[in-house]
Amino acid sequence: MSDALRYKDKMRGLRFFGARWRLLLGLVGLGAGAWAFHTYAPPQHNPFRPLSLEDPIGFATFDKLTDLKYEPSTCFAALEAAAVVHTTLLDSVTGEGCGFENALQTRQVLTPLNDALSMSCPLAASLYIWEQASARPLAEDMFGSPLVRLETYGTYSCRNIAGSQQRSEHATANAIDIAGFRLADGRLISVAEDWGARSPEGRYLKRVHKAACKLFSVTLGPDYNAAHADHFHFDFGSGGSCR
Ligand SMILES: [Zn+2]
Repeated sequence: MSDALRYKDKMRGLRFFGARWRLLLGLVGLGAGAWAFHTYAPPQHNPFRPLSLEDPIGFATFDKLTDLKYEPSTCFAALEAAAVVHTTLLDSVTGEGCGFENALQTRQVLTPLNDALSMSCPLAASLYIWEQASARPLAEDMFGSPLVRLETYGTYSCRNIAGSQQRSEHATANAIDIAGFRLADGRLISVAEDWGARSPEGRYLKRVHKAACKLFSVTLGPDYNAAHADHFHFDFGSGGSCR
């Protein structure tokens, strides 16, 4: 073999080993990256960590809440871990396209409600995170007074979406209508009165609405249509809307 050929052969061998080494190093790097992410990423950003209702809102929160629709035992375990006092409702059909599945009744997911309300477990879980990460701390920060009651227009109602032939998410207790926020100092922040106002109350409503969009599949308010002029509608159905 000539020197030139021998040299060429040697170089080919080196390139072959070089490629294998690069592949191996790449795989080790990927593995180390995945391990570091899993070990150090905050749980709200890590889709492989179980959902805790006490976590702040992160990149993985919405997907974890969505998974609860298909994992009722995980959903109820999350509520229990957060000490949400509730009565589990038996699955039942209450009318055509109406009824309860993986639902509960409660007077207080986190903040007391104006009434005992029935709601699906994933709706309750989303509501809890929205209250603890947004509605409650913002009330303290902006008004120096804790949020003491959510004024609602209810959750469950066996009916269609207004002006449509389609069942509302309310028909399966998978939606809540929130009209206002009562603070400990007696103040009421009202969607009907304060939405769009250039006041702290108006800014509060904008901010909690924006936070809801990260947690519920459908978030509607007065900007959506006249039917929502006096309340926010949050649901955990199959739609996707933030208006
Ligand atoms: Zn509604």
